[in-house]
Amino acid sequence: MQNTEIKTTCSYCGVGCGIIVKNDSKNGVTVTGDKDHPVNRGMLCSKGMNLHYVVNDTSDRILYPEMRWSKSHPKERVSWDTALDRASAVFSSIIKKHGPDSVGFYISGQCLTEEYYLVNKLVKGFLKTNNIDTNSRLCMSSAVAGYKKTFGEDSVPIAYADIELADTFLITGANPAFCHPILFRRIEQHKEKNPKIKIIVVDPRRTDSAIAADLHLQILPGTDIVLYHAIGRRLIEKGYVDSDFVRNHTENYQAYKEMVMGSSYEKASKLCGVSVSDIHLAADIIGKAKGFISMWAMGLNQSAIGVDKNTALLNLSLITGQVGKPGSGPFSLTGQPNAMGGREVGGMANLLAVHKELSNPEHRKEVASFWGVDSISEKPGLTATEMFDALESGKMKAIWIICTNPMVSLPDARRVEKALANAKFVVVQDISHNADTAKFADLLLPAAGWLEKEGTMTNSERRISYLPKGINAPGEALSDVEILLNFAKKMKFSGFNFNNTEAIYKEYCLMTKGTNIDVSYLNYSRLKNEGTFQWPVPDYGHPGTPRLFADKKFFTPSQKAIFNIPTSIENTSELPSEKYPFILTTGRIRDQWHTMTKTGKVSRLMTHTPSPVLEINPIDAYKTKIKNGDIVVVSSKNGEVRVKAKVTDTIKEGVLFLPMHWGKQLDNDLNRTNNLTNTIVDPISKEPDFKYTIVAVKKYVKP
Ligand code: SF4
Repeated sequence: MQNTEIKTTCSYCGVGCGIIVKNDSKNGVTVTGDKDHPVNRGMLCSKGMNLHYVVNDTSDRILYPEMRWSKSHPKERVSWDTALDRASAVFSSIIKKHGPDSVGFYISGQCLTEEYYLVNKLVKGFLKTNNIDTNSRLCMSSAVAGYKKTFGEDSVPIAYADIELADTFLITGANPAFCHPILFRRIEQHKEKNPKIKIIVVDPRRTDSAIAADLHLQILPGTDIVLYHAIGRRLIEKGYVDSDFVRNHTENYQAYKEMVMGSSYEKASKLCGVSVSDIHLAADIIGKAKGFISMWAMGLNQSAIGVDKNTALLNLSLITGQVGKPGSGPFSLTGQPNAMGGREVGGMANLLAVHKELSNPEHRKEVASFWGVDSISEKPGLTATEMFDALESGKMKAIWIICTNPMVSLPDARRVEKALANAKFVVVQDISHNADTAKFADLLLPAAGWLEKEGTMTNSERRISYLPKGINAPGEALSDVEILLNFAKKMKFSGFNFNNTEAIYKEYCLMTKGTNIDVSYLNYSRLKNEGTFQWPVPDYGHPGTPRLFADKKFFTPSQKAIFNIPTSIENTSELPSEKYPFILTTGRIRDQWHTMTKTGKVSRLMTHTPSPVLEINPIDAYKTKIKNGDIVVVSSKNGEVRVKAKVTDTIKEGVLFLPMHWGKQLDNDLNRTNNLTNTIVDPISKEPDFKYTIVAVKKYVKP
């Protein structure tokens, strides 16, 4: 084995930390933080630090294509040629018989930008269906819609460098101490040096982020908008409005003002479960801030009112004029390493590449002409949950799943199980046999992993980095790009004559020319030689753009940002009842990533939380006669789980918490939190509401 050392980017969360990977015959692959990287400056969290274990352990890898000729046959090893012949034959015949919308692709925020671009071109341009969605639908589609409504386009305005320039942070619906650890470490370090810096955390749980905060507003799930409106009212009453910014750079302020001035602090206090004085204190801290950053993640996005939650929070940055200035701005945190890159290339059912809209006939025409196809279907594609509904009902016959594990991650897991069992043909393209979804595959395609292929990713702050190939993939595994190009060839599609991954990136970059995400002057050579860039990068000498809207010109037709009025202020999609008196909220734990197909293999990452535990408040535990350590049954109308209880006052009374990571183990699916979650989605973003399911809990009694 040749000794090598490369610089790359962590494959876990959207923070996008720089990593140095060494590979030598003595130690195999080892990783260290890249001290020169602008994101992490050498730091790595527990997950990043242990990435090499995942790379070195190939025990569960899919090594060659496996196929079954019918549902009653076991899977057998086949050649790539046979596998892709079958895939193209089955997809062609289903499309011929039932039309293009009878097939779909479900992909992942872990896919690289080139893979995302390629598969979207293949599906929307050539298979002639818009049924392609991504697991990023489950994490940030509400933020995308919120940005569009407020700023005119999906656009994260700030950079991590703004952290060290800010003096006030509102972290809401996020636990970055666990989920974006290096980003949170930068906030902590900033506060250590500048103790006057204020951190406000809004969360129904007293998380590690909340413990580090100056003020924790422990709201009830679903009441975020009520809180933001009450804060907005106080900001107006106390004269903290940036009148110049509001007058010259925003629209619809009067309607917003009337709405929030009609709200009542007492009512807000009662609904949210926080005191009026704490609401005032939060507003006063924000109002006095010189640099105010709001940060959020799934607590806002994964909601039946997720888009409204986003716009209501963005309104606070608008009233205070805290956008486009150093050390200020709203900042949605992406959960996956390339969720942002996927957004750039139109990786969702309702999007087209370069931030164009599927619903816009002009945009469809432009993209079709760029790809050299007659047209792109105007029919909206099915989103994540809709695709599995369509499989269950039989409207969709075949699905191709790339790099994601919907059996564990989608809401109402038993419905997903039924949907996959009902599908005529399931292709799973992944690295590991471990993913529960792989068991449903009629065709299992071995994909190369993170270090075994090249491409680009964009992190939460719009920073694009190049990831080189460091090692060869095991067995016959191929990169996702190679698999998709070979499939396109079998389908006899033109437009896929790419000699390498770089050529795909070149085509995408060309497409961005003149758009708000212009990277037409970027290429692999610049990324390799000059390092990372934040888009847009609109000419050769351009260093990239850390901060958007510095000129206060937004992407709306009027170039003004828009105050949005929410259609609903509270999540009333389900209300606690006698049968289901608790609100279940789900989330992540420190050392696990998604459905544990990678982190679950690393024994030292299993020690922090070895098994899923239900958090329950002592008052609720008393009422339900549950003691710490008891095995409990949590049930909803969709199913149940059986886990250990942890009685803790870190969780709000009336609320229960379960981690989302565990799937079916040892043929027992009672660890799987998504047995419980409901399938309600936000009406605009179609993002599922993982943060609000009504449930019951009782002590488990052996039958
Ligand atoms: Fe990787 Fe995220 Fe940890 Fe950085 S913070 S090392 S990107 S998991």
